[in-house]
Amino acid sequence: MSTVNTDSVLKNDEKSTLETITSVHHWTATLLSFRCTRPPAYQFTPGQFARLGLRTADGEIVSRAYSVTSAMEENTLEFFLVLVPDGPFSALFAKLQPGDQLLVEKNSYGFMTVDRFLDGENLWMLATGTGLGPFISILQDPAVWKKFKHLILVHCVRTQEELAYQALLQALPHRTELAAGGAHLTLVQATTRDNQTESSRHLHGRITTLLEDGTLETAAGTSITVEASRVMICGNPEMITATREILVQRGMRPCRRAVPGQFVTEDYW
Ligand SMILES: Cc1cc2nc3c(=O)[nH]c(=O)nc-3n(C[C@H](O)[C@H](O)[C@H](O)COP(=O)(O)OP(=O)(O)OC[C@H]3O[C@@H](n4cnc5c(N)ncnc54)[C@H](O)[C@@H]3O)c2cc1C
Repeated sequence: MSTVNTDSVLKNDEKSTLETITSVHHWTATLLSFRCTRPPAYQFTPGQFARLGLRTADGEIVSRAYSVTSAMEENTLEFFLVLVPDGPFSALFAKLQPGDQLLVEKNSYGFMTVDRFLDGENLWMLATGTGLGPFISILQDPAVWKKFKHLILVHCVRTQEELAYQALLQALPHRTELAAGGAHLTLVQATTRDNQTESSRHLHGRITTLLEDGTLETAAGTSITVEASRVMICGNPEMITATREILVQRGMRPCRRAVPGQFVTEDYW
């Protein structure tokens, strides 16, 4: 018997609306993107996350944060997620298909948005795994292509099958509304578990290693500097902690509410 009930038991509460899954795209056995209907009047800034809820057979709501990957103006919401072993939300979500429903909180959340940066010429976006999600939304915002001269997206995964959203990313510079902003986009992919011959088109190694030995900046064709670079870091908390240390050693500071800085971060767990 299914442990998830998406019809009679799943009702919207005061802070959520009940939305319908419209499509699911599997990148790998455990990595997928899905779209759902957008709650009426739902607002978000690219980089923010939604809180999604599913109810167990016992009636308990399991609620988790998921970064919005869709562009601001789209009439559905898209999310990029991994189904983790023994994860309560993952177990419930794995049983869903188009037509099923989930709860979406009416508010969006989070501070990993480009308006945190008052200046800067180069925007670095460093992601591990599903930490790519918020950057898919950010990179579809024409204002970002106007605000920065160079956009550098770094996506680090275990194996190249996990390099999702390649077609969308490659097509971004050809979208007239984005190209009008004038920024140059550089895409850098890295894998940690492929051997080098398998992944010759990608860098090999962790973001922190590639930062420390200079490989990342060489691949991007530009250096990370306090003056010109602003950095967003998302995904694995260990990567974020280690990358913060490297950036701080280079004289960079996190953005605080009242104090402008050079980097912002979002831990996924
Ligand atoms: C602000 C924020 C935004 C998030 N956005 C996303 C997103 O866009 N996509 C997404 O897949 N997850 C995202 N997460 C993580 C998400 O909320 C869930 O934790 C995750 O989907 C697993 O839920 P669960 O209940 O199945 O397992 P949980 O009990 O929540 O997690 C179990 C364990 O799984 C591992 N884990 C959790 N999330 C991930 C992940 N994303 N990648 C690899 N390992 C993980 C950790 O070791 C964690 O301890 C976000 C988390 C935060 C705080």
